[in-house]
Amino acid sequence: MTTTTLSRPDPAPAAGTGPKRVLHFIDGAHTAGTGERTFENRSPADGALISTVHEASRADVDAAVKAARAALKGPWGRMTMEERAAILHKVADGITRRFDEFLAAECLDTGKPRSLASHIDIPRGAANFKIFADLVKNVATECFEMATPDGKGAINYAKRVPKGVIGVISPWNLPLLLMTWKVGPALACGNTVVVKPSEETPTTTALLGEVMNEAGVPPGVYNVVHGFGPNSAGEFLTTHPDVDGITFTGETRTGEAIMKAAATGVRAVSFELGGKNPALVFADCDLDKAIEGTMRSVFANCGQVCLGTERVYVERPVFDEFVRRLKAGAEGLRLGRPEDPETSLGPLISQEHRSKVLSYYARAALDGATVVTGGGIPAMPADLQDGAWVQPTIWTGLSDDSAVVREEIFGPCCHVRPFDTEEEAVALANDTPYGLAAAVWTENLARAHRVAGQLEAGIVWVNSWFLRDLRTPFGGAKQSGIGREGGVHGLEFYTELKNVCIKL
Ligand code: NAD
Repeated sequence: MTTTTLSRPDPAPAAGTGPKRVLHFIDGAHTAGTGERTFENRSPADGALISTVHEASRADVDAAVKAARAALKGPWGRMTMEERAAILHKVADGITRRFDEFLAAECLDTGKPRSLASHIDIPRGAANFKIFADLVKNVATECFEMATPDGKGAINYAKRVPKGVIGVISPWNLPLLLMTWKVGPALACGNTVVVKPSEETPTTTALLGEVMNEAGVPPGVYNVVHGFGPNSAGEFLTTHPDVDGITFTGETRTGEAIMKAAATGVRAVSFELGGKNPALVFADCDLDKAIEGTMRSVFANCGQVCLGTERVYVERPVFDEFVRRLKAGAEGLRLGRPEDPETSLGPLISQEHRSKVLSYYARAALDGATVVTGGGIPAMPADLQDGAWVQPTIWTGLSDDSAVVREEIFGPCCHVRPFDTEEEAVALANDTPYGLAAAVWTENLARAHRVAGQLEAGIVWVNSWFLRDLRTPFGGAKQSGIGREGGVHGLEFYTELKNVCIKL
């Protein structure tokens, strides 16, 4: 394997220098690997070429897994928990120190507004290392004393040990945030990782490799291979026999494919999958807050948030006012380039994803929806014509069995439907194969608890949305996931619990 060490895989090509190459990061060095294929990383805002990305061959993935295995048995495995935690703090500090580079890379790859990424994506990327580094130091396990026939007894204690080499497969919507949400706890628990980022957003994983080296993370602990899913890096990683566990965030259908791959060798999986999340707006809510919260939950990140709302159920007395005000909010959104401080909505991630979202816009029209606003492609300035832009869209009037109401669209759109009773609202909200998140808007405390208890979702927000305490469990019910990330709950996947029985 030819290894090229780059001082910096610059995500943002300087004027006149042309697009950069994005390489794999294996055993502490950037490398083009042995794969002969490359692919283009294009800006979703204007279609411009950002970089050429090397696609990993099976041999490259194997080299990454071997490096991860060696690091597990080597210096990383021999470090104390405190030593590892100290290094992970340096990783977090490194992200913060190079905040602007991460921000530029993330915004270029995704097209998302800087105002959003600077408040959410990049700070959370750093926080994900700190929180888990601190958390593992305070995790206790159980200890039982037992009687034995000789009267001397025995002590059992449980010990958490790293699971081993973890395959991390991440999506494009919150690239650094969701990738580090897995890498942070995996490393804090003493594992090593091979990351396969989304083909749409490869750049910040490469930058993170540099930060790992600067922080003193030993080579092989953090590895990155680029490519696609089937017959590419994703499949090579999930079918690799020496990967001990696979943590994946992405579509439910992809999760099914990965689960099949993980069945060989009976590897553990942790899945954060799709959603079709409801918001329930009761007439007794604070309507200003409900409108503001629903605006964010429907349109933030151009609707490309797994926790976002695509179904809004509104109690009939406030339905008309809610729809009128949500429409005004949507029409006030400003589409534009990430760096423009006035921008509130970026493009979708790609032309392919835009085709998918537009197919639902067409389907809504066919199914007889009333288009409250949007429903098509916005008029954009000449320099953004090649971007993946869609209009923020609100529908009413669809039947509950329309594909638009049942399937995850992952775009800046929602269907708003009236309801008459609390019982009806809960039944409508639960009428989905997904179970990721729900939002409830009410000032009635008893109702809030009652409804939250009945909703089939991993996370229920009351009078808020996307309010996250990283110590709490995060994950989906039904087809929205397997297992929980966050706080101590992630340790169930990232460690093995070993019982040690000492005869006294
Ligand atoms: P995706 O499933 O298309 O791809 C996710 C990752 O899986 C990518 O890196 C992709 O290359 C890889 N992949 C695809 N096929 C594979 C295969 N057969 N084997 C191995 N790897 C494979 O998802 P996406 O389009 O990147 O992201 C959007 C989806 O992610 C939405 O469904 C969204 O709801 C979901 N999501 C869920 C959460 C959550 O926490 N539950 C968070 C963010 C996104």
